[in-house]
Amino acid sequence: MKLANPDLLKFQNYIDGAWRAAERTMAVCDPASGELLGNVADGTAADAEAAVAAATAALPEWRRRTAGERAATLKRWYQLIVENSEDLARILTLEQGKPLAEAQGEILYGASFIEWFAEECRRAYGQTIPTHNPAMRLSTIRQPVGVVSCITPWNFPNAMITRKAAPALAAGCTVVIKPAQETPLSALALCQLADEAGLPKGTLNVVTGSDAAGIGRVLTQDPRVAKFTFTGSTPVGKLLMAQCASTVKKMSMELGGNAPFIVFDDADMDTAVKACMATKFRNAGQVCVATNRIYVHQAVHDEFVEKLRSEVAALKIGHGTEAGVNMGPMIFRRAVERVQNLVQDAVASGARIELGGEQLPNGENYFAPTLLTGVTDAMRIATEENFGPVAAVQKFTDEADVIRRANATPYGLAAYVMSENIRRANRVVEALEYGMVACNTGVFSTTVAPFGGNKESGIGREGGVEGMAEFYETKYCCFGA
Ligand code: ADP
Repeated sequence: MKLANPDLLKFQNYIDGAWRAAERTMAVCDPASGELLGNVADGTAADAEAAVAAATAALPEWRRRTAGERAATLKRWYQLIVENSEDLARILTLEQGKPLAEAQGEILYGASFIEWFAEECRRAYGQTIPTHNPAMRLSTIRQPVGVVSCITPWNFPNAMITRKAAPALAAGCTVVIKPAQETPLSALALCQLADEAGLPKGTLNVVTGSDAAGIGRVLTQDPRVAKFTFTGSTPVGKLLMAQCASTVKKMSMELGGNAPFIVFDDADMDTAVKACMATKFRNAGQVCVATNRIYVHQAVHDEFVEKLRSEVAALKIGHGTEAGVNMGPMIFRRAVERVQNLVQDAVASGARIELGGEQLPNGENYFAPTLLTGVTDAMRIATEENFGPVAAVQKFTDEADVIRRANATPYGLAAYVMSENIRRANRVVEALEYGMVACNTGVFSTTVAPFGGNKESGIGREGGVEGMAEFYETKYCCFGA
């Protein structure tokens, strides 16, 4: 891998401010070509314990610093990430597969969390409370929760780390991260830049490894860890929540979704199609807020499908580093098989393939961007998160009915509404049981707003003032006067 700054390529764990080999290594491969990118430390539970010990030792000094001092270090980290963004994007594309332009977008999006939380931590105000008793004085202060552990997924290998680590570090917490096994290089590159920025040793630690369960047990059960934050699938999230119960850890969970995308007959069709393309095919559909069920009013169904078909047909598929590519491979073979399976199941139950529906010859992890019509709510493609490049279209006729269908899922992460009628848009946005609703756009994630889900899609929020609050404890102080 050719980089302008070869120092960014690290293969060892970053623990207590030092690069440490593990007993074994694991292969990291380009999902597009299968090419070996390098052998990375295959850390164990013992490495995770060492990282927790380092974070515990680093905590008193880091939390004692003023918010301004912490912010200055974090802003240096932010600057270094921006300066190295091309290399970071290249590493990300090579290990994850997304097109380079998307990877560059992710690096800047990821960096924006560091900048924003560095600024926000200066506003960790407490309160003085009008007393209930003249002989007492009441106030609150906000203090960092303590050592924070994080487990992050492969679909956003940079931003899912900074979205957790930045507010934690800004609040005065120290951090241990286990990135996904498939994408450790992006995490380690971030550590290299944190090190250069002067983050004190032990403040940020990364343990890579294939024994997710063993490392995960330490991160969810070690009594020195105060808070656990996770982004990943709902089944794994439930398991980790149960593990956290033994020591009553604070928890934030960003889990799966089953996003509805509703196109009313009063929608602007070009806006709706553009939004649908953005939410469905970005990162080959491997996004927790990706549209999973597309409900189109029957009066505009055929027009919407035709426009969507020509946009999908125009997507350029290939290696993420090739110029002009809009969609790369999926992350691994298992993901391709899963999507293939869901498409076959839908077709067997009466859905129609308008486009795609099969693997592509580019490589074993490529699946064609796919458009299905005639889908129903009973099909697995509508009840399960397909997490792939499959747009599954259904018809509806009635507003109340489509709201009911959209809400009929245990998930509640993101939903999309397309309508030019402000009263309807408002009504439907309020009626959808989701943590985030986007109206007339397909792209809504930002540092400054709270990201998170209702129901089985999660607990807590990341980003915005809510994302900062997750890393503080509020202490009530009562003084006898
Ligand atoms: P995805 O379907 O996106 O891969 P997962 O929930 O399987 O979602 O993975 C998200 C993260 O959770 C990854 O870092 C993965 O290694 C980790 N993980 C998976 N299984 C476990 C487990 N049993 N304990 C701890 N972490 C796990």
